[in-house]
Amino acid sequence: MEYTPEPAIEKEIGQIIQALEWEHLDPNRIRVVSSRGSRSRRILARCHALPKALQTGLAIPAHYVIELVSENYDCLPEIEKTKTLIHELLHIPMTFGGGFRNHDYVRAPRVNKLYEKYLKAMAPPVPAFPENQKTPEAYHLTFQIEPKTISNFPTA
Ligand SMILES: [Zn+2]
Repeated sequence: MEYTPEPAIEKEIGQIIQALEWEHLDPNRIRVVSSRGSRSRRILARCHALPKALQTGLAIPAHYVIELVSENYDCLPEIEKTKTLIHELLHIPMTFGGGFRNHDYVRAPRVNKLYEKYLKAMAPPVPAFPENQKTPEAYHLTFQIEPKTISNFPTA
């Protein structure tokens, strides 16, 4: 197996964590790698954890590594890629201690719901009416004309 760090996807993970308000996840202790050489045609990604024995023995806190199986992940549409990342992040428990939540918890309906929430959080905000652009009300005040006239008032 050959592994490559994926800093761009780590950034995306940071966005997901922020959008979903997952305060139990520390983006600095979640890394992403891609792998090549998997024989599986089915597995899109895996979530690895630094086991407790290594955390204690090496005196480093828990870390998680999400592995994206290039042969299967890379050709997914963007939606499915993001859902895969959400799925893998769901495996990390509230304790962030080196264990996992299993597939009783990490299920497609939960992932889909969170994906919708993520999309909403990422949507650009509705632009406010620019301050320097006069609203019909403002024209009315300026020119002292009836609001009825204003509906035909040129806006440009
Ligand atoms: Zn899973």
